[in-house]
Amino acid sequence: MTRSAQSPAAAVDDATAERLAAALRCRTVSHEEPERIDYTEFDRLLAHLEQAYPLVHTHLAWESFGHSRLYRWQGSADTGTAGAILLAHMDVVPVDGAEGWTHPPFDGVVDSEFVWGRGAIDDKSRVLAILEAVEQALTEGVTPRETVYLAFGHDEEIFGSDGAARMAQRLRETGVRARLLIDEGGVITSGIADGIDVPVATIMVGEKGFATVRLSVSDVGGHSSMPGRQTAVGRLARAVARIQDHPFPVRLTPVTVDMVTRLRGFMAQPRRGGLSLLRVAGPVVARVIAMNPTSEAMVRTTTAPTVIKGGVKPNVLPQLAEAFVNFRILPGDSVADVLAHCRRVVRDDVVRIELDGVASEPSREPAAGPDFEVVAELARQLVPGVAVTVGIVPGATDSRYYDDLAVTRCNFAPIVLTAADLDRIHGTDERISRTDYARLIRFNRLLVDRLAAQV
Ligand SMILES: [Zn+2]
Repeated sequence: MTRSAQSPAAAVDDATAERLAAALRCRTVSHEEPERIDYTEFDRLLAHLEQAYPLVHTHLAWESFGHSRLYRWQGSADTGTAGAILLAHMDVVPVDGAEGWTHPPFDGVVDSEFVWGRGAIDDKSRVLAILEAVEQALTEGVTPRETVYLAFGHDEEIFGSDGAARMAQRLRETGVRARLLIDEGGVITSGIADGIDVPVATIMVGEKGFATVRLSVSDVGGHSSMPGRQTAVGRLARAVARIQDHPFPVRLTPVTVDMVTRLRGFMAQPRRGGLSLLRVAGPVVARVIAMNPTSEAMVRTTTAPTVIKGGVKPNVLPQLAEAFVNFRILPGDSVADVLAHCRRVVRDDVVRIELDGVASEPSREPAAGPDFEVVAELARQLVPGVAVTVGIVPGATDSRYYDDLAVTRCNFAPIVLTAADLDRIHGTDERISRTDYARLIRFNRLLVDRLAAQV
């Protein structure tokens, strides 16, 4: 798409693709161990953004929070309300096994169809698309009516406590209240939703919580010839098995009911008829949804034992065995509920049960806000015939820090992905098509125009 193209399905031109590719060449990788993060790569990325988007960096006020950036685009009217807070993050997850990649993950290769590299979808395309749109608008003299904030985090993949948390706090202290909060999360999927032939745009309106529980058993150790009834490893294994065997119950939340209701009209009979029973047969519908791992996340707090370790030698009794279980918490449940659930099902006082690392609560009563339709309408404009529905992000995003700062929250990008494409996110061969990138820019540009026209 050239900067003024109108067709929603056009593709970005070489120069636009190259600006994104240059950003993908910056190895802005987040690691859990802070000493492994190379901040010079973040400096390179910030320098690239300043050079590639000169109008943004002269017309907007901006402030740094570590390597995060908060931009303020002054509105033409002083209404006391901000039009929007547009979030995105500049860091990416590490690559394990670069050999599997078609192009090296940090080479930023552009071909006739795609821009390839770690961060092409998650989430540098969104950072750059927002900047492309604002730069375009500034070129054309467009100003939003209400002030717009852009907030680009540098540590989303490691919980955002240094970037998003501080930027959100600054906005809170300044008394900012926005109509709309937009961040990553939902996309448009093609060929994934069972029984629906059209692409489905899932605009996420909140997110699940996150908690990792550490289970551990300590013992005096000794020789394995006189083990007693249970070793630390055996005891721990039993605790993990009990947690795995006692999942949280399936439950339909209001947002899941809304999700299914919005999709009903796009489904073929008899599935559609079945879903009209939603209110009377809710538990049955919830159980059907739970049968598929991707949709199961919508109806229960999920349980995933992820790490188990213990013991040093086959003939030595272990002194310590530990395991980690990751939970994604459904709205309505809490971090405290997860701990209580573990203690209840393990039923063994010798097993120590505690939270490990950062935990986050799920969104409180997520629902489509008053400006949801603005975003839904843009999705329909960009992908004619698309089915639009709501959802909640199964993982944690930076937007949880901003939840109280906006009336309507939408985690959404209008890129069209297949199941195979979804696997590329945090996986191998991450890439974005030139068409999707054009759509993403257009989405942000239309949103800016909308914010400019608002009366
Ligand atoms: Zn992300």
